[in-house]
Amino acid sequence: MSGSALYDTFARAPLAFERGEGSWLITQDGQRYLDFAGGIAVNSLGHGHPALVAALTEQAGKLWHTSNLYEIPGQTRLSERLAAATFADKVFFTNSGAEALECAIKTARRYQYANGHPEKFRIITFEGAFHGRTLATIAAGGQQKYLEGFGPKVEGFDQVPFGDLEALQKAITPETAALLIEPVQGEGGIREVAVSFLKRLRELCDEHGLLLILDEVQSGIGRTGKLFAYEWSGVAPDIMAIAKGIGGGFPVGACLATARAAEGMTAGVHGTTFGGNQLAMAVGNAVLDVVLEEGFLEDVQRKALLMKQGLAAVADEFPDVIEGVRGSGLMLGLKCRMPNGTVNAALRDQKLLAVPAGDNVIRLLPPLTVSDDEIREALERIRSAAGSLSETTA
Ligand SMILES: *Cc1c(COP(=O)(O)O)cnc(C)c1O
Repeated sequence: MSGSALYDTFARAPLAFERGEGSWLITQDGQRYLDFAGGIAVNSLGHGHPALVAALTEQAGKLWHTSNLYEIPGQTRLSERLAAATFADKVFFTNSGAEALECAIKTARRYQYANGHPEKFRIITFEGAFHGRTLATIAAGGQQKYLEGFGPKVEGFDQVPFGDLEALQKAITPETAALLIEPVQGEGGIREVAVSFLKRLRELCDEHGLLLILDEVQSGIGRTGKLFAYEWSGVAPDIMAIAKGIGGGFPVGACLATARAAEGMTAGVHGTTFGGNQLAMAVGNAVLDVVLEEGFLEDVQRKALLMKQGLAAVADEFPDVIEGVRGSGLMLGLKCRMPNGTVNAALRDQKLLAVPAGDNVIRLLPPLTVSDDEIREALERIRSAAGSLSETTA
């Protein structure tokens, strides 16, 4: 046993923060860290955003929670706004990404069931995927390290290699209900799915009567410079899971669906106690107010370019540390030449926070509100970190 009363499931950095201000996190003894981890793409508007603080504190004085036994006007409003801004007609609110995925999986299975195909319950996913840590979502993610020791893998998930169209076509059977994919793999190492591949997925779904489920838990809410990453491709899903950025740090998730896809989700078939409570909805609506402001997403795209170009220059300078830059918007990855844990520790020494990911990548997920100066400062720190690790510098 370790010295802590906490489960030992997290390998935490020896750092505790007391306060946050925009893109900065501040320790008890006043040390300032530039936060390009963003609570793993959660703090979409940084720390202590005045509009979010106001929305949460105002709601906290009125009402926190009533349960879904009653109408919740904030839910009605947020669902209508999400529907208006996306492919979706219907929304179910949850507390987390994994729960949003659970709802997405259940929605797809129920759709097939309601349409006379109870035999269609299997879902095809892609290697490197991450969909959460519940029993169903670890089965969907298919990663052995998350499945090991937790008993039989939940039935109904088939996995094919990333980007392998032939394997995908072979994996479709009369039992297949849906395809599930992240338009940009986050945990998997900021791996973008090609637009042509997404288009092909849509066609395959239409040909075979399958539903297309997108996991935009990490890539959504402006992260890639559009409200949702799928918008870059022009391919609309039938169902989509979101979370992380929509709450800006308050736990909020949602499953979005077309009216057709949500057909089977009738009264009583699914539920949640906490999902969509008044506090969560106040914050979710406030996040959307900011992200949907005229010019906000264009500014994210502009800043993303600045950052990506700067990162490419650092990679050119230290090719023995950084192999390349990937990703879009403010969801960027540094493919490392040396272990990404080493690079992450060097970044932390420069007081820059980032997140390691699969495929030996370091994720950079700054708040969407990050300033140009903060991006330049981060680039300088990344350059110093890379320099400290490189053999090529004197
Ligand atoms: C974080 C994440 C999840 C799981 O979200 P939780 O809130 O941790 O349950 C699912 N899918 C993707 C793509 C994620 O990045």
